[in-house]
Amino acid sequence: MAIAFSSLGSGSKGNGTVVRTLVSDKDSDVNTSSTIVLIDCGFTIKETERRLARLDLTPSHLDAIIVTHEHGDHIKGVGPLARKYNLPVYITAGTFRSKKIGALDDVRLIHRYEPFDINAFHITPVAVPHDASEPAQFIIECDNKRLGILTDLGNISPHVEMHYQSCDALILEANHDPAMLASSAYPFSLKQRVGGAWGHLSNQQAARFLESVDRQKLQHLVVAHISRQNNSVELAQQAFNDVLASIKNVVYACQDDGFDWISLSPYNEQIS
Ligand SMILES: [Zn+2]
Ligand SMILES: [Zn+2]
Repeated sequence: MAIAFSSLGSGSKGNGTVVRTLVSDKDSDVNTSSTIVLIDCGFTIKETERRLARLDLTPSHLDAIIVTHEHGDHIKGVGPLARKYNLPVYITAGTFRSKKIGALDDVRLIHRYEPFDINAFHITPVAVPHDASEPAQFIIECDNKRLGILTDLGNISPHVEMHYQSCDALILEANHDPAMLASSAYPFSLKQRVGGAWGHLSNQQAARFLESVDRQKLQHLVVAHISRQNNSVELAQQAFNDVLASIKNVVYACQDDGFDWISLSPYNEQIS
């Protein structure tokens, strides 16, 4: 079974990552026995429906929502979507107790140091340094393919570094350029927050992490959660310059369009 992933949008105005299994290499039929999960939903129901439709999906195709943390750009639509479509929500107790999500019928509490399964997906939560109650990011595995999702963290802790080795695909935050952030119109406290150890990764932090991590299997890099005010694709590209040559496919996720389906297929194995 292969994994495919895509995004409804990425950035401080809303996030949502869709990950699904593909039963065969040619499979694009969502009505087959695929499993489809949505990680975070920072959009209204209407907007989520519109963005899912771009990917030939409706919310009723989803098997579950998985939540990283309670910031609005990640949970705005989680409660409404889960209630309207009766979806189970996988969430840490701290994030759930933050009360920003409202009542949920089907809560599946997860622990940040205990992997869990949703059908064919084996999911490892990873605790990250971010200014939320109990934030986690995730590594999703299926048939030896490994997708790492890593956004919304202020620094690369040894715990994070240990977990995000040997991914086949990585969605990695490169939030800001430090010089742009310093000279932006953001109030001082917000600059401190975003650039601090519990805020967001700068281009340089993300690039250093990527340089240090085992990239032997890394086929796809998605640069994500790029700030519209304090960054640009060009600046992120410059910072990543030294490592980009070793990665086959590099995509820059954007706020309006996210990114299109990327598949990790065991059927046409590419060894780099
Ligand atoms: Zn965020
Ligand atoms: Zn956040």
